[in-house]
Amino acid sequence: MSTFPSDIEIAQNATLQHIRKIAEKINIQEDDLEYYGKYKAKLPLELQAENPKGKLILVSAMSPTKYGEGKTTMSIGLTDGLNYIGKKAIGVLREPSLGPVFGLKGGAAGGGYAQVVPMEDINLHFTGDFSAIEKANNLLSAVIDNNLQNPKFSLNLDPKSIAWKRVMDMNDRSLRQIIIGVGAKANGTMREDGFNITPASEVMAILCLSKDLEDLKFRLGNIFVGKTFDGKAIFARDLKVVGAMAVLLKDALKPNLVQTLEGNPAILHGGPFASIAQGTNTVIATKMGLSLGDYVVTEAGFGADLGAEKFFHIKCGQSGLKPDAVVLVATIRAIKHHAGLGVEDFKTENVAAIEKGFCNLEKHIENIQKFGINPVVSINAFPDDTQAEYDKLKALCLAKGVKAIVSTAFVDGGKGSAELAEKVIAEINKGEANYKPLYQKEDSIEHKINTISKEIYGANSVEFSPKSKSQLKMINELGFNEFQICMAKTPASFSDNEKIIGRPTDFTITVREFEIASGAGFIVPLLGDVMRMPGLPAVPNAERIDIDNNGKISGLS
Ligand code: ADP
Ligand code: MG
Repeated sequence: MSTFPSDIEIAQNATLQHIRKIAEKINIQEDDLEYYGKYKAKLPLELQAENPKGKLILVSAMSPTKYGEGKTTMSIGLTDGLNYIGKKAIGVLREPSLGPVFGLKGGAAGGGYAQVVPMEDINLHFTGDFSAIEKANNLLSAVIDNNLQNPKFSLNLDPKSIAWKRVMDMNDRSLRQIIIGVGAKANGTMREDGFNITPASEVMAILCLSKDLEDLKFRLGNIFVGKTFDGKAIFARDLKVVGAMAVLLKDALKPNLVQTLEGNPAILHGGPFASIAQGTNTVIATKMGLSLGDYVVTEAGFGADLGAEKFFHIKCGQSGLKPDAVVLVATIRAIKHHAGLGVEDFKTENVAAIEKGFCNLEKHIENIQKFGINPVVSINAFPDDTQAEYDKLKALCLAKGVKAIVSTAFVDGGKGSAELAEKVIAEINKGEANYKPLYQKEDSIEHKINTISKEIYGANSVEFSPKSKSQLKMINELGFNEFQICMAKTPASFSDNEKIIGRPTDFTITVREFEIASGAGFIVPLLGDVMRMPGLPAVPNAERIDIDNNGKISGLS
């Protein structure tokens, strides 16, 4: 496989169609396109139908290794696969964050012959949505600190209570906790602050859940900032900054049209991580896709314990969307990882390890079934996999009532996902998907957290730290008890300890503290030591990235 070209080589060798041609395929008039060069265009919100008729296919995965098991690759492969068998399908996915691009994971535009292009643009600044989100977030920060500075207009905010952080789209651990306002009085009020990565910004969450501009403004206004010295809650609307934030986001609110390597339409919009935010693209883009195509393939980040659970409870809960099918991505290497094998053993056939490590995928399958949908498993084929391993994995899935299909989309593009596409269509045509949530909004916050921890993670119990208990009291006093829950947890394990692989039992989930996202409409329990600002690995991917004198980029994976 050493001769197999890299993702960027494949992307750079592709002949792209003008985006106008892609738009034509889904009946978008040229006049409706807002061009960002020849290969990218923004789409007006009016392209969203009132009651879209398309079918929604959610792609999630087993608990991944740190490299990712190929959800984006499989989502693009399935989009191409559906088109290959003659269906009008659109991939509706997230925009990549620069954090992973320069960190460990690399880009997020798919892989091999299942990619969206222009790959470099998509992975870098794309159409500027992340920058707009970052600016809107940081405008609110600047206005908060300015309010502390000017007694005449002051809202009497207690600096120690300020819950709003600055954001930057970079893995930079040294900004997690900072002191601002150091020096003379003119430099502002000295206080502790910190940075989150842009995909963890509540502005990102809000953009991804908003129905339209009006809803966006309403939600921005509801952002909880902190409390006054006499205990009154202060929201972004009290700082009169909502209009200005919305202005910064006016273009970011519009979905972005690009293409797969096979010239099929893909809409990329919004990019919250699933470990620390809701992990799925915008509601607007999903609904637009369902209006323009017969099938939408969409991805929920990390494993199904995070991405799919949040997709169901938060995205479906707030938008009324309901998936018609779920695809769970599995790899032989991840199954081996959950059997306790190390990277050095991934390349050797080991059928016994498939049997042992299946427990992780099995729990994800059961979880999706709890939501009322029987998933299809897509085995993302890697070069060292063997037929005996596939046969074992397929048999194990079948025993759970689930069909597992090998996809070679990475090597073969849409053709390699044709069988998977047929199976997914057959599932949809059965019409048996009957999505139901596991908790109701009226349930208490503790009850909701307990439900997710016990039903989805398999925990025995949930422990709340003293800090989280006092925050919980405040959350209830503020009347936020009907909000949904957005767990911030490691994707590596069902538990809150990334070292515990497989299907752990007999464990406790610990809620360390809470963050309030009252504009997005959810509460974020921070579990274990999950970080909302990642760090770079010792040897970051950034060291491999370069551009030559002709402007040709290398090293993006
Ligand atoms: P996820 O969306 O689950 O995080 P991605 O689709 O982004 O995963 O894939 C993660 C990485 O693995 C990418 O660099 C991709 O190129 C690579 N990859 C995915 N599928 C395969 C495969 N079948 N063979 C080799 N590499 C793959
Ligand atoms: Mg992905």
